[in-house]
Amino acid sequence: MLLYGQCFGESERKGRLCSFRRTGTVSLEAVFIKKGKIVVAEVIVDIAHSDVDKIFDYLCGEEITAGMRVAVPFGRSAATGFVVRVKETSGFPMEKLKRVYRAEEDFPALNPECLLLAQKIAARYRCPLALALRLFLPAEMRTGKVGEVYTSLVRLSGREVCISPRARQQAALVEFLENNPEADAAFLRAHFGAAAFSALEKKGALTVEKRRRFRDPYKGVGGEASAHILTDAQQNAVNTVNGTDKTVTLLHGVTGSGKTEIYLTLIAEQLQQGRTAIFLVPEISLTPQMLSQLRARFGASAAILHSGLSAGERFDEWRRLREGVARIAIGARSAIFAPVENIGVIVVDEEHDGSYASESSPRYNTFDIALLRAQYNQCKLVLGSATPSVETYRRAVQGEFELVTLKNRINARPMPDVQIVDMRREVRRGNPSPFSALLREKLSACLASGNQAILFLNRRGYSQTVICRDCGYVAKCESCDVSLTYHSEENCLKCHYCGARYRMLPACPECGGKHIRYVGTGTQRIVGDLKELFPSARILRMDNDTTSGKEGHFKILKQFSERQADILVGTQMVAKGHDFPAVTLVGILDADMSLHFPDYRSGERTFQLVTQVAGRSGRAEEKGEVVLQTYDPENYILRFAARYDYEGFYGHEISVRAATMFPPFAKIVRVMVTGTDEKEALGVLKEVYEGLKAVYTANEDKFLFFNKMHAPIKYIKNSYRYQVLMRLADTGVLKEIYAVTAEAGGKNTLVYLEENPANLS
Ligand code: ADP
Ligand code: ZN
Repeated sequence: MLLYGQCFGESERKGRLCSFRRTGTVSLEAVFIKKGKIVVAEVIVDIAHSDVDKIFDYLCGEEITAGMRVAVPFGRSAATGFVVRVKETSGFPMEKLKRVYRAEEDFPALNPECLLLAQKIAARYRCPLALALRLFLPAEMRTGKVGEVYTSLVRLSGREVCISPRARQQAALVEFLENNPEADAAFLRAHFGAAAFSALEKKGALTVEKRRRFRDPYKGVGGEASAHILTDAQQNAVNTVNGTDKTVTLLHGVTGSGKTEIYLTLIAEQLQQGRTAIFLVPEISLTPQMLSQLRARFGASAAILHSGLSAGERFDEWRRLREGVARIAIGARSAIFAPVENIGVIVVDEEHDGSYASESSPRYNTFDIALLRAQYNQCKLVLGSATPSVETYRRAVQGEFELVTLKNRINARPMPDVQIVDMRREVRRGNPSPFSALLREKLSACLASGNQAILFLNRRGYSQTVICRDCGYVAKCESCDVSLTYHSEENCLKCHYCGARYRMLPACPECGGKHIRYVGTGTQRIVGDLKELFPSARILRMDNDTTSGKEGHFKILKQFSERQADILVGTQMVAKGHDFPAVTLVGILDADMSLHFPDYRSGERTFQLVTQVAGRSGRAEEKGEVVLQTYDPENYILRFAARYDYEGFYGHEISVRAATMFPPFAKIVRVMVTGTDEKEALGVLKEVYEGLKAVYTANEDKFLFFNKMHAPIKYIKNSYRYQVLMRLADTGVLKEIYAVTAEAGGKNTLVYLEENPANLS
């Protein structure tokens, strides 16, 4: 709960009340005097520290309203703050209160809903309110690094001026404005010359008006706005969402079942009723088709927020939403904080995607925030996926969410056939290559017919590890507790955790042996092998190494969709919602990789990955094929995935989870303690552990597991990592656990809590 506090500066304690007046801005002081009415603002200073996480009262003028960002005196210096409420009087003596210096903007950056939501988030995730409030603002607004851009619009002033017959440009400019009542100053200068322009301006013939202009990052993006006529299944889905009395609907539809069209219809309906919408997608920069589709359909009323935008562009997209010029916010998880009001529908596409969990404080779950916003706005929340998370699906089958199932692809296009290949047999047959005989055969047939193929591998680089055959030495990163990966193009070793590069080893640093061996296969190596197998094939690679820079993904995907390549080799990135009509073959090179990850969700993730990658095949006229290579061909997860049997997978998975008491039947909580100073980190760990131990001892029946240990990766970027791992049968104690961690930490040590973490490394 929020505490009331007050800050007294030096000057006030000494009774020099007026001292800061001199530094306050003139405008506000003037307003005070003119109106004579002074009110009190409750301010949260924008400093993310629990010591100052309370409300401070300040005096202000009437033009300060709740939600505004203000500059205030704080301690000996100044700080920015958020006004959370404005009131008539304070519980503190009025004469002791300091005054707000000024408003940072002339409008409230935060609307009432955001203020309320931020308080709920701060309480739920035990973070300072300032941190929660920041979620709702574009970072560049707080750092003040971007400004607004203006255009100068020019009209004829109507004043009679005389133009000499020789000044032909001036005459032409006047004539132009007679035909075009309003024009951009820069345009006029460029066309009629700066001299003519300023001559006319001097004579008073022109009125120049400055008007704010929004930067448009999507100039030229967008094609035809082709709204399809909904199929019966799609129309039924739309009707169900609108008709149900439940807030949340889960749209479970196979890949290619036309979910996007359903979302867009729901959004368009709400816009027509004067409401707004939020549309979340995991990685919009990965799906340029989606971008142009949205742009074509909704034009400038869509604000698309993603990491590829410049600071200025992001800021302007935010402003357009705040002002209601744009009414649909589209983006990754942070777009859930978009400043839209009167929301009519919230859509979360690919709801199972790991990117919806925040990885920095507050570690919120996007779904929880979406639900809060849906409840506040009394609107519908739609979750869509071909492979819903087990937790979401359970809530749907139990009746908490409405469930809509789309079993068929649009136009009854068949799902691609999945063939499982036993890689152990390949090895026995004397084929050590990463390609089975079947995959090679299918690849050459695919290339011969002029179609495209996608090969999926969950590992980038050339090879996984570099091992000395003589002594068993494994090359490891100096700053992280992980082995290095060989990259042949640069002939170096890279750490995939911190990005450090090392020179390739000429000999083993331990024993001096020269028998250095590469183990495992990465995307880079696959490309090399493919080139040997199919010398004339054009091959593209897509992974973290090839997609750096703002346009990295975009360029590769564009090349592939324009058929400048025949085969696309890549990591998970190739699995995401792409729609390449010419792809008829998908090869999954090692389905086992994610299967044997030590994590309760590895089965779920493998099912999702296989289904999503397979879904890239055969999306147009020709039927698609999938070759799934594995060393574990009897595995039930792979069997269900090959049959597109989600219900079968779910039934099996949920019974395993129930029997072993894993989520959604329990909650995994990990408290991480990380720091560069090992001694301090250990000290903090001890302190945290003791606090948690007390909670554990008092509530032993609510815990299934409780232990402190090294994190599986003991250090990353020279930061030591410890954890207290818990599994809760009853989440009632979560609040107490948060309370322990909220207080803990050190100068060089960070403590944070993760709920059901996606990654336990
Ligand atoms: P999903 O999101 O379920 O994977 P998409 O929304 O990408 O499926 O739709 C798959 C394909 O079907 C797209 O090419 C889309 O343009 C097309 N499509 C969607 N709805 C219709 C419709 N009602 N009529 C014809 N084609 C459609
Ligand atoms: Zn490293």
